[in-house]
Amino acid sequence: MTNNATDVSYAMPGLDKGTATSAVGRLAGAVWRSARSLRNCGGSRRRVVAGVIALSAVCMAAAAIATVQLRDQALAVAGAQSGGLALVLANQTERAFDAVEALQSGLIEEIRQADIRTPEAFRAHMTGLAIHNDLRLRASLLPQLDAITAIADDGTLINFSRYWPIPAVNVADRDYFKALASNPRLASYLSTPVPNRGTGTWTMYLARKVTAPDGRFLGLLLGAVELAYIERIYQAVAPAADAAIALFRDDAVQLARFPHQERTIGRSFAGPELFRAVGLGADTATLQRRTSSTDGRDRLYAAHHMARHGMTVVVTRTVDSVLAQWRRQRAVLIGATLALLGLVATAGAIVLREIRHQSRLADVLTAKAQAEQARTGAEARLAVAAARTQADAERHARDQRFGIAMNNLSQAMCMFDTEDRLVVANARFADLFNLPHAGLTEGVPLDMLLPASESGSGLACVIGELRYQDRHGRVVRELEDGRSLAVNYERVPDQGWLVTLEDVTERRDAEARIAHMAHHDALTDLPNRVLFHARLSEALARSRRGEACAVLCLDLDHFKSVNDTLGHPIGDALLKEVTSRLLRQVRELDTVARLGGDEFAIIQTSVDQPKDATALARRLIDALRQPYELDGHQVVIGTSIGISVIPDDGNDPDQLLKNADMAMYRAKSDGRGRYRFFEPEMDAWMQARRLMEVDLRRALAEGEFELYYQPLMNMQTRTVSSFEALLRWNHPTRGLVSPAEFIPLAEEIGLIIPLGDWVLNRACSDAALWPDSVGVAVNLSVMQFGHRSLVAGVADALRRSGLPPKRLELEITESVLMQDSDLTMDILHGLRALGVRIAMDDFGTGYSSLSYLRSFQFDKVKIDRSFIEALGQGGDSDAIVSAVTGLCERMGMTTTAEGVETRAQLEHLGALACTEVQGYLLSRPRPASEVAAMCHAIDHGELVPMLAR
Ligand code: C2E
Ligand code: CA
Ligand code: CA
Repeated sequence: MTNNATDVSYAMPGLDKGTATSAVGRLAGAVWRSARSLRNCGGSRRRVVAGVIALSAVCMAAAAIATVQLRDQALAVAGAQSGGLALVLANQTERAFDAVEALQSGLIEEIRQADIRTPEAFRAHMTGLAIHNDLRLRASLLPQLDAITAIADDGTLINFSRYWPIPAVNVADRDYFKALASNPRLASYLSTPVPNRGTGTWTMYLARKVTAPDGRFLGLLLGAVELAYIERIYQAVAPAADAAIALFRDDAVQLARFPHQERTIGRSFAGPELFRAVGLGADTATLQRRTSSTDGRDRLYAAHHMARHGMTVVVTRTVDSVLAQWRRQRAVLIGATLALLGLVATAGAIVLREIRHQSRLADVLTAKAQAEQARTGAEARLAVAAARTQADAERHARDQRFGIAMNNLSQAMCMFDTEDRLVVANARFADLFNLPHAGLTEGVPLDMLLPASESGSGLACVIGELRYQDRHGRVVRELEDGRSLAVNYERVPDQGWLVTLEDVTERRDAEARIAHMAHHDALTDLPNRVLFHARLSEALARSRRGEACAVLCLDLDHFKSVNDTLGHPIGDALLKEVTSRLLRQVRELDTVARLGGDEFAIIQTSVDQPKDATALARRLIDALRQPYELDGHQVVIGTSIGISVIPDDGNDPDQLLKNADMAMYRAKSDGRGRYRFFEPEMDAWMQARRLMEVDLRRALAEGEFELYYQPLMNMQTRTVSSFEALLRWNHPTRGLVSPAEFIPLAEEIGLIIPLGDWVLNRACSDAALWPDSVGVAVNLSVMQFGHRSLVAGVADALRRSGLPPKRLELEITESVLMQDSDLTMDILHGLRALGVRIAMDDFGTGYSSLSYLRSFQFDKVKIDRSFIEALGQGGDSDAIVSAVTGLCERMGMTTTAEGVETRAQLEHLGALACTEVQGYLLSRPRPASEVAAMCHAIDHGELVPMLAR
């Protein structure tokens, strides 16, 4: 099969012309034989015979030459068209893959910046809804990209743009995974097409390897390209019904094909000769004529190899159908020639008969024959001309079909011959440069087109330049009107040159968007961690020249509860509003970034540190705690800020950020809504905190928690009305740990939910054993209000302990009410419906305690210790406490003064009409076993001295 392959380069020399001329040849033989029988005639007769033979030969030669020419032409045109098409499609296919690759590179760069070193870290980094949303957004930018997938080092799917939650899938058996996991030198792999495990459609994976800085294999990023997309491109431009367009990987595996052929997708064509024949590896168009290994038909193959992606586009047409029109032309030609020869023969026969009967008239007849000869010669030329006209008409029709195909290309294209005269240009080309369609006729010189387009369209700038430099390849040119054109210039040996142009303005914009996305947070459009890191490096460089700056790390207080109770859309709106408030507080040179979730960071460039950082931190805390109005909800949050100063607190970006982060944690645990500068001791503190986290997770199961009780005394009866349950942690090595130290951490790690449940049950069952007149108060965390199950949990604790609901009091802080959410209110009313009492704790310390008193009918208000401490010292406290007790009384609420430590304070409170007091003066919190003793002492007027025990 290989042997009969014939090289048909663009000029197509050496065609086998045998079949083309054989019919004419047979005819010629017949004429020749009949002419021989007349050989014996006289001289004039011989001349007649010679004339007939000469005439016939002329006719047949003309016909044969025309046939061969037409055939050559048909093959050359089809070849050139297929070659041009292969080039254009290679271009388009390449671009589709380039864009997917660029997107993956962006992600890989972000991973590199995050300094991920282990497969576990990679897995952690790529897990979660936020990453899923990010991937989904990115995938939606490219029509050819069906999905983006992150794969762990063992082949399990970590994240996936298409589905949430992430389905359990393992791809360890797939070719791309095996190839990339086992070959350390391989960075990317184009998969064999596989039926998608989710959708069933044929999908190709553009797999990219993710490695740690030391080269360790971390996993893969997959871009799923749906074959139907590639095949749709091919379908749009397929020039004729017999044409097939296919995409092959360099190892000859077929990736896509139009018309789609289920059985050949994914099959390797390496064995068959095709791939050697199309000249894989040569980065140019090649053209071949050979017998197909798939269907055994004689075909023309035009191929274009894409070295960068290791793929080849092959356009094939059957020689049969390429020559179909030519065959019809040939039949017409043969018919016309036969008719002519018949005419000549008849004329000859008449002449000869005349000679035989009337030799006298030989001269006349000779003259007559000569006249006849002249006439038939003219007719022969006419017949050939007629055949040519028809051939032209058919070629015109074919050109029209080609024109339609050309005009279907999404790219503009034009072909010029070696003398720079237009061969063909499509409608898109005319539109691109505002040229009149009618002006683009075959033969128009390039020089005439250039000025015609000068009115701002830039044809001269784009094509003229390429043509005169005669540079192969692809460039992108910006036009004056803002458009970007990708221009591909290709010279075709001996034929001329071809330019394809594409308006890539939109894609450029999309690429710019992708690049922007790689460095910005999608929600707030603030710089992300990657860009922040880069800016921090720049700031460090400047600081070496003496410019001081500061890094501020911000974490929003209570953001999580807003998100949980009001939903993500409100949470998102809040983050945007926070962003604009932050931006209003900084100067243009400063960088505000969102590092993730509710974490923000600022680089403050300034000459006067740390004074300026202090001022900024104060402004930020103040700006962020102003109430937010979001979709009809009023929301209040706060922020905790940690600050590190350049260059004192570090000289690399990671160190500075880590230190500011540590200071931020410190600020948070010191009571939120504060700022802290980094101090070297924080490192140790942070480590201790991490240790505590480990211990805390274990403590509940180990039974290390215990409730202490502190009495509340009624001011009128001077007897114990209730005890407040206060949590204690008996740490195996550290002893008794204060709740102030571990409750914030328990909230952060979510342990507060089971722990709070434990407290409720224990407090209720303890109190069930006390006298009926003594109640119990339990503190609830704001985190517990994120779940409706709190109501059921309280009901459960009451039912199990048998404690009457009216003896249980729940203490909540203002932070619970900061989120004006339906869920919070539903829970509060649900609790109230159980018959329990609800108290507002730490009244006066929050932002807007008074306003919250109106949002819910509390049973009790507990006035914070800070007011009691300052009683009788000439400040505002007396007036405030007096106003609060008066107000509460009018609103039907009782009041408790917290933190009463001295008799003076107690007496003062009596005058201020407080309902209850609580504090060390009466008793410190003590174990449950001492409740009876505390009751006895207080009821009998034996107040425990404040410093006792
Ligand atoms: P809190 O609810 O305001 O509890 C009162 C705190 O003031 C207790 O600190 C108590 O020991 C302390 N205290 C009472 N009288 C005096 C006094 O006269 N002078 C001074 N200086 N302090 C006094 P404690 O037990 O360390 O608890 C601290 C905080 O931890 C509590 O503040 C509460 O917010 C939280 N907490 C304690 N137990 C729980 C619990 O079971 N669940 C939740 N969610 N939070 C709890
Ligand atoms: Ca309390
Ligand atoms: Ca309190």
